Amino acid sequence: MNQLRIQNFLIQNITTLKGVGLKTKKLLKKKKIDKVSDLLWNFPQSYTDRTDTRTTDKLEVGKIATLKVRVIKYNFPRIRNLPSKVICEDQSGKIDIIFFNSREGYIRKILPLNKMVVISGKINYFNKKYQITNPPYVVPENKESYVNTVVPKYSLTEGITEKIYRNLIDQVLLNISDLKEWHNVKVLKKIGSVSWSQSLIELHRNYKNDFNSKYYKRLAYDEILANLLVLSQVRKRIKKVKKTKKIFNHIFSQNIIRKLKFTLTKGQINIINEINNDLKSEYKMFRLLQGDVGSGKTIVSFIAAGNVINSGWQVAFMAPTEILAKQHYKLALEIFKSSSIKINLLTGKMDSKEKILLQQNIEKGKVNLLIGTHTLFQKKTKFKKLGLVIIDEQHKFGVRQRIDLSNKGGKDCDLLLMSATPIPRTLVLAVYGDMDVSRLVDKPLNRKEILTLSKPEEKLKEIIDFVKKEIINHNQVFWVCPLIDESKKLDYTAAIKKYESLSKIFPNKVGLIHGGLVSAEKNDVLKKFLKKEISILVSTTVIEVGIDFPNANIIIIENSNKFGLSQLHQLRGRVGRGKVRGVCILLYKKNLSENAKKRIKILKKTNNGFFIAEEDMKIRGFGDVTGYQQSGLKDFKVADPVHHENLFKIAEKNIKEIEIDEKNFHKYDFLLKLFDKADIVNQIAEKKD
Ligand code: ADP
Ligand code: MG
Repeated sequence: MNQLRIQNFLIQNITTLKGVGLKTKKLLKKKKIDKVSDLLWNFPQSYTDRTDTRTTDKLEVGKIATLKVRVIKYNFPRIRNLPSKVICEDQSGKIDIIFFNSREGYIRKILPLNKMVVISGKINYFNKKYQITNPPYVVPENKESYVNTVVPKYSLTEGITEKIYRNLIDQVLLNISDLKEWHNVKVLKKIGSVSWSQSLIELHRNYKNDFNSKYYKRLAYDEILANLLVLSQVRKRIKKVKKTKKIFNHIFSQNIIRKLKFTLTKGQINIINEINNDLKSEYKMFRLLQGDVGSGKTIVSFIAAGNVINSGWQVAFMAPTEILAKQHYKLALEIFKSSSIKINLLTGKMDSKEKILLQQNIEKGKVNLLIGTHTLFQKKTKFKKLGLVIIDEQHKFGVRQRIDLSNKGGKDCDLLLMSATPIPRTLVLAVYGDMDVSRLVDKPLNRKEILTLSKPEEKLKEIIDFVKKEIINHNQVFWVCPLIDESKKLDYTAAIKKYESLSKIFPNKVGLIHGGLVSAEKNDVLKKFLKKEISILVSTTVIEVGIDFPNANIIIIENSNKFGLSQLHQLRGRVGRGKVRGVCILLYKKNLSENAKKRIKILKKTNNGFFIAEEDMKIRGFGDVTGYQQSGLKDFKVADPVHHENLFKIAEKNIKEIEIDEKNFHKYDFLLKLFDKADIVNQIAEKKD
């Protein structure tokens, strides 16, 4: 086959394969298998040895055997639900082949009377006879070699048998061996000198399913390259989009900064400068501000907002929740109170009259700074002159959504995303390779390190005594109970029980919040906590997102071994935001695993989220690390940033070489299509002046 034909075959819909009708298509879709090549990333996890060929006198119950026999008699029952029986024999004896739920026609077809067949399956013994029940393989004699072999075992979705899957994989593998290499010799050498098709064939036939095999690495490399290449291209394109420069001086921001109750950290000042340069430049800003919980990102973004407004543009600030939007709104009123900046809050809950009026004002340009939730980007909200979009806690957006947001604002609109989920350095490129990244590493100077302790559950009494004292001193406590069963998102029993037992000890002092409450109920509880009407807030993990409760200094985390390192760190970051030192108590059940011990040790040792993110990845592998799943990295089908860190580095260099000459790109078109990335770059509205 010629190159283009093979490539096209691989990116065609799965229905192009023999044996895939609508039903199979639907089933495969559940496994995210749409196009032919998607089949290939589901590697066999192990294998079944079917090479044990036996005659009927040498059978062993419970073992898988492959037999060559002649079909001699059928027995189809008249009564429904009884199994069908086919009696077969070889020179040494007889065996019954039993079928439940199979149609007579089908059985007659695969086991034709008086014909020799090869059957493979597990041997059982019933009514003094050997049997095979629902044999996974029945083939004509001349196809013996297909069965009498080591057969790959795939993790399959219901309704897709091993045989079906194998048949599909075979159709693909048969067609790819002529595919030519797209990497140059230098790169190929670095990634193991094996071809793409050879690697696939090896992994599907020989079960070398190890992260470090050269075949696996080869495939991972191509995936990494496709990802990084596309992000790099997006970045380049965006950098070419010209915008109207924002013109402002620094008197305004200096005034605001002077009036703050604190002095900015060096990190904050540096990043404000970086952002200012972006705003003043003739190219669009596409920047991510990464900083640990409580590192002071908000003020940085507000100063950017002030500058943009000062140069005659509007600013939209999007928060992930209503409560957070309100909190930011109040803070903005406070910070800009000495200026003439007009600030409004737009939430989903506003009554429609009010909303329409506000939207009219936005369109007329009477609103300078609009703060809200995702409702900010409803079609009805039109800005007169939008110059900057700020998005807080954005870790749920992937590259496509980022481009979307940037497009929505129009060509003059800068974009600033903020994330409190620090991720390891090697991953920044893979997730945010399209953006400029600012990292806010230092913490506000007045901030005291959070004291982290760990206690076994039996010492609950001590903790209650401690809490009693703290409450008398008007401190507040978060009490976090994880879901008992992670898979059941509706399982708040632990939190409810804790709420009940604590309410007995602290009557009228305890509130409860979990995912089962409607948002009005949630808001109600959070308000009470914010107003200090209650002292203890029992919750599942809903408090993770960045609300500021400056008076809550203590967080108690039950079953802390159920949380990952980054998640514990995020939770801990809820406290210690005021002047008083925060305390985090990790409760655990006895018999901690080695990893759980490691996690506790790391948390006690450091409050640095970036460091913790690196450690988290080392302990868990990237697949489970909170934040990454949401970051777009979950899209990796083969690559794993923990095991393949080196490949990321090779790809980074490789891309620089590729990008020297645009003519090189077409070589990688196929790769981009293979990983569904081909359309991304074109999403960028190219508006060059
Ligand atoms: P995050 O980065 O999690 O969004 P915030 O911006 O909410 O953090 O800041 C957390 C708290 O720290 C706020 O109460 C804020 O006023 C305060 N803060 C911010 N910068 C400084 C600073 N340089 N010195 C002291 N406190 C600061
Ligand atoms: Mg924040």
